[in-house]
Amino acid sequence: MKKILVTGGAGYIGSHTVVELAQAGYEPVIVDNFSNSRKSVLDGLRAILGHDVTCYPIDCGDADALRQVFKTEGNVQGVIHFAAFKAVGESVAKPLMYFQNNVGSLLTLLKVMPEFGVESLVFSSSCTVYGIPDALPVTEATPTKPASSPYGRTKQMCEDIVHDVSAAPDNKLHTILLRYFNPIGAHESAQIGELPLGVPNNLVPFITQTAAGIREKLTINGSDYDTPDGTNVRDYIHVVDLAKAHITAVQRLLDRKASDVVETFNVGTGHGNSVLEVVKTFEQASGQKLNYVMGPRRPGDVPAIYADATKAADVLGFTTTTSLLDSLASAWKWQQALKNVGN
Ligand code: NAD
Repeated sequence: MKKILVTGGAGYIGSHTVVELAQAGYEPVIVDNFSNSRKSVLDGLRAILGHDVTCYPIDCGDADALRQVFKTEGNVQGVIHFAAFKAVGESVAKPLMYFQNNVGSLLTLLKVMPEFGVESLVFSSSCTVYGIPDALPVTEATPTKPASSPYGRTKQMCEDIVHDVSAAPDNKLHTILLRYFNPIGAHESAQIGELPLGVPNNLVPFITQTAAGIREKLTINGSDYDTPDGTNVRDYIHVVDLAKAHITAVQRLLDRKASDVVETFNVGTGHGNSVLEVVKTFEQASGQKLNYVMGPRRPGDVPAIYADATKAADVLGFTTTTSLLDSLASAWKWQQALKNVGN
């Protein structure tokens, strides 16, 4: 079995990717310092897969600890690097913490990987690299704009670092940069899902927590945008669809099929949905009426963004299969399951 190191593998997208990797015949090995996840994720993985997944509770910025993992595991074939902080607002308040963790962990990984002959990397980038785009949908060729937050800048910097490292004459690294749009929902088993610690930053966990009575109401951040109903438009992709894109990317790297040492793909559905549409679709999926009010715009929010998903379809053969309704139904099922496991 081909062994893939998954940094941040106990996190939201990482845990779903671990499941897809294992089910596709890979052996995922997790590195996670649990700074934004809980050890109970490992129980969820065991329940789905029927076996334990090896997990090293270490910091990805700790080069010696990382070396020990590569050494112990012996034959790691590739790395999927999810480990990072991701809260836009927090990155404005604590920029150094974001640069240190997000850029620092990538630098450490890039230093250690070649010491063990590991040459394949899938990197978690984000549609935040596009800033406020001039035209929609955004393609991979859409110029990146100044990031609206330190978080977005860390993703731009990480992409630049990968390009520079790959341009060096003795480079052996092959990387696929995946620019995610907005992942939502949970595994159909409701054993793993999004586990926001504290008040959720993202729309869907806020919605499900409001429907569950944990939050009093949802305040929609802005209703006067230049969009069909005035609310923000995003490209919401089911997390299992997103996870599957990583399997395709890893396989492409291991097969050395990539056309360049660095390839970039948007990973989205190709459709934009407004916040109000998400609320209405959630009501339909859950049978719950949602308590929501319109509020002021939130600084830093891009009015509208959605992917042109053509390149991923043409080159990776990757398309999404889960509807917004089904994605939201899975998020609601997960929220209800959370009550039972006491999280
Ligand atoms: P998450 O916070 O659920 O998962 C990240 C995991 O990495 C957590 O388990 C955390 O404990 C771990 N981690 C953080 N820093 C670490 C370090 N230095 N060493 C070891 N482990 C560390 O986030 P997610 O939503 O699963 O996001 C995964 C990746 O995808 C991140 O790089 C994020 O920036 C990117 N991304 C996320 C979204 C989104 O909306 N969720 C969108 C675009 C890109």
